[in-house]
Parts: sequence; C-alpha cells; structure tokens
Amino acid sequence: MIFADRVNKVKPSFTLEMTSRAAELKHAGYDVINFSAGQPDFNTPDNIIGAAKSAMDNGLTKYTAGAGMIELREAICKKVERENKINISPKQVLVSNGEKQSLYLACQALFQAGDEVIIFSPYWVSFPEFVTLSDAKPVLVDTESKNNFEPNIEDILSVARSHTKGIIINSPSNPTGAVWSEEKIIEILKIAEEKNWIVISDECYERLVFDQKITISQKIANDNNLKTEIITCMSMSKTYAMTGWRIGYSFGNIDIIKAMSKIQGQATSCANSIGQAASIEALIGNQENVDSMIEVFKERRDYMVEILNNLPEVECRLPGGAFYAFPSFNSFVGKNYKNKTIKDSFDLCEIFLNEAYVATIPGDGFGAPGYVRFSYAIDKKTIKDGLGRIEKIIKEIK
Ligand code: PLP
Repeated sequence: MIFADRVNKVKPSFTLEMTSRAAELKHAGYDVINFSAGQPDFNTPDNIIGAAKSAMDNGLTKYTAGAGMIELREAICKKVERENKINISPKQVLVSNGEKQSLYLACQALFQAGDEVIIFSPYWVSFPEFVTLSDAKPVLVDTESKNNFEPNIEDILSVARSHTKGIIINSPSNPTGAVWSEEKIIEILKIAEEKNWIVISDECYERLVFDQKITISQKIANDNNLKTEIITCMSMSKTYAMTGWRIGYSFGNIDIIKAMSKIQGQATSCANSIGQAASIEALIGNQENVDSMIEVFKERRDYMVEILNNLPEVECRLPGGAFYAFPSFNSFVGKNYKNKTIKDSFDLCEIFLNEAYVATIPGDGFGAPGYVRFSYAIDKKTIKDGLGRIEKIIKEIK
C-alpha cells in the first residue's frame, strides 16, 4: 500500500508504546512497576460520574453543537473566570475530543508549508508532530535543567525568521514538570507580540502546581497590557482524572476559534455528549477532589525527588507542577551493563524494563538526552519499591 507522505513524516507516540509494552509484560505475569503513566491513578470523582449517568438517563446521547454544548461553554467561561481570572464569552470557546485535538486543530488552522514554529526542548512528544502534520517546520530551542528548563531569550531570537509564525509553550511542562516564572513568560509574550507570532499555550497541567498559584499566559498578557495573540488549550484529563472521557477545550480570538471549529466540524462533528455533560459538573461542581489530589501529588513529588537525588550519580530538580520527575542519568550513558554499552536513555530504560520490570520513559524521546521521565501517579510504597529496583541496576553499571 502506498500511503500519503504525512504517514511517513509523522512519528508514532513512543510514550504510548512504552506504556503498552509495560502492560504486555504485566499481562504475561511479570511484577511490573509502572512509572510511565501519563494520567492520574485516581478514579474520576463520583459527582462527575453521576452527572454522566443522569445525562444518559435524560437522553443527552445525541450530537451536540459542533463547538460544544452551550451549557458547557458557559461552564468553561465560569471556570476560567473563577480560576484564571479572565473574562471570555462562549463564542470564544471550542470544546474538542481531548486537548490533544484542540492543539492539533490550532496547528491545522494556523500553520502551513513555509511556516516555522518554535518549540522548546525537552518537549511533549506531540508538539513537533502537530506542527509537521500542518506542513510547517518545527524549530527547536534547547532549555537546561539548571535554568528550570526556561529558555534564554537570545536563543529564541537566534532562530527567529521572517517566516516564523508561532510558538508553543507548556508550563507546567510534560516531561519536565517545570513551572516557568511569570517574568520569563512575559519576556516570551513580549517577543511574540513584537514579531507577530501566535502563541499556543498548552495549560494542560494548570491546576497541578504545588509551590505557588499558577497564572496562565493569557492572564499574564492581560495584566501586562500585552496584545499577544494567544490560543489557550486546556484539558479535563489531568485535573479531574478524566483521561478516558476525551474532553478538552481551547479559547481565544473568535476568528481563530471559528477556523478551528470549521475543521473539527468536518473531522469529528463534536465531542462526545456524555463527556460534555459530565464536564459541566466537573468544572462548576465541588472542587474538593481536585484540592486533595494536588495535596497527594505534592507529597509524592517530594518523596520521589528525595529518593532520586539519593541515588548514586542521579540528579533531579524539584519540579513545580504536573506529576513528573525528570532526573538526569547522564553519567551512566557510555558505561556498560552486563558487558553491553548504554548508548542513550532508550538503552537505559530498556534495561530498567527488561531486567527490573520497571517502566520509565526515556528523555531522548523528548529531546532530552540522558534524562528519564518518572511519573508519580503511583502510590508511595510502589515509588519506593520501584526506585529500589532502579538503584540495584545502576549499581551494576560500570
Ligand atoms: N498537553 C500535554 C502537555 C499533555 O501531557 C497531554 C496529555 O498527556 C495533553 C496535552 C493532552 O491531553 P488530553 O488530550 O487528554 O486532554
């Protein structure tokens, strides 16, 4: 079969691959400890599940408006006003089948062949692929752990071209967990305003911040009188433990939202009606579950990062948000395990999985050689056991 070029251009999601390999080993009877999860280990709260059940009982089982049920778009406006201190109208909102679709649509609506889009490395694996699928070119700007994975402004300016069209930011970040400072975001928004770049702000983990109150990019722009064009993308998945419900949303300039909605209308009609009804309850109902989930994640983060930093030759910065620790295992690259040289973090994670049945995600896949992503969406006892297995392995690396 001869496929269209885009099939060859796009890379498969290797994070999903790692997760399914871990699941296969588990299914085959191995005692696998899984640090690769990109989702909360909690169930969707009962009030949200209840709202979905009533939606089905009440016949909310049909197509909805393409941009999302008006009641949900109103609930999103209320949530954005309550949590993010921004006033938006339902016309500025598009509900999609997960935030992944929101981000994909933003790239489809805004970018095309000849455009360049700036992405920061380490990056969430889908960003370069979304840009590639729009026929534009992803341009990577490296960031370093010692700078909280925040970019240097000179590095951004050094890749700026007349055909740079946009920039994608993601704080708190997957994979690093880093929360960028407001000052850094202001600097980036100012350049984008000056150069007329569109900012796609992936705020997937906006509520999962542990040491400060998060301020989203659009609010920072408003407070600083910046007119930067920002499309904000948010998700129900992580905040409300709703990854399988597939509801995300975006908001911003009405014309951009309309353009995204036009493509969505032809691709998927609308997001699933039951998930939309449940999302209304999630956004405007009781928020206590979110608060307690944040508490649990914070405690686990501190616990995991302390153990990681006590492992020989492993360094881990304290991440400010999300549920990922992103330590460097760089000093093991180039060394040998059982007479085999470890070339990169792919090799290292392969050893962790095959020899210790511990699933992790290699940083090389996120553009971060020598790093490994550990999710702490897993209980403390399992964190301790899993890192104990990793310690045994790394002590055998010579
Ligand atoms: N953005 C980031 C950084 C993510 O990590 C994810 C999911 O892993 C998403 C967006 C997409 O979330 P969803 O499509 O589940 O709403």
